[in-house]
Amino acid sequence: MDAGQNGLLASITAPGGEATAEADRILVAVGRWPNIENLGLEVAGVRCERTGIPVNSQMETNVPGVYAIGDVTGTSPLAHVAMRGGEVAVKNALGRVARIDLKTVPWCVYFRLEESQYLFAMVSILLHSLSTSPI
Ligand SMILES: Cc1cc2nc3c(=O)[nH]c(=O)nc-3n(C[C@H](O)[C@H](O)[C@H](O)COP(=O)(O)OP(=O)(O)OC[C@H]3O[C@@H](n4cnc5c(N)ncnc54)[C@H](O)[C@@H]3O)c2cc1C
Repeated sequence: MDAGQNGLLASITAPGGEATAEADRILVAVGRWPNIENLGLEVAGVRCERTGIPVNSQMETNVPGVYAIGDVTGTSPLAHVAMRGGEVAVKNALGRVARIDLKTVPWCVYFRLEESQYLFAMVSILLHSLSTSPI
């Protein structure tokens, strides 16, 4: 980012090449990625992918007895998923059998109050019409 003639100048490097764009404001919203370098995972034989450390439903990596939880697993990056993953991993590490079910993860979308009330009313009407539909 630099100062441009009429505002800010952003230099963009993408797979397709380089470009510049001038704008009043620049929003930087880069992605997140796992910080798994230099942990010795390769030495331990733990499989790592670009998106993180793959685990099964018991939070176990490809190496039996080695677990990974949370965002680093590259699945559902939510705080409550990380917490549940931690519980599951600890239980399995202690010899009990526990699994995480990522099909039932609650999440929400934040809105301004007026918009959320409108959306809630629309969803309520839709659900009501579905439940009373003769088909
Ligand atoms: C802006 C933002 C908003 C979010 N909002 C929500 C939300 O509203 N609801 C929700 O459910 N989730 C939200 N999340 C996601 C949530 O924060 C994460 O899913 C959750 O924190 C993941 O927990 P974690 O323990 O896997 O990782 P983290 O909470 O990131 O903890 C990882 C820890 O490991 C440390 N660490 C990293 N590398 C190393 C290393 N090599 N050695 C030692 N320590 C290391 C880090 O410093 C950090 O303390 C949000 C995330 C962001 C960024």
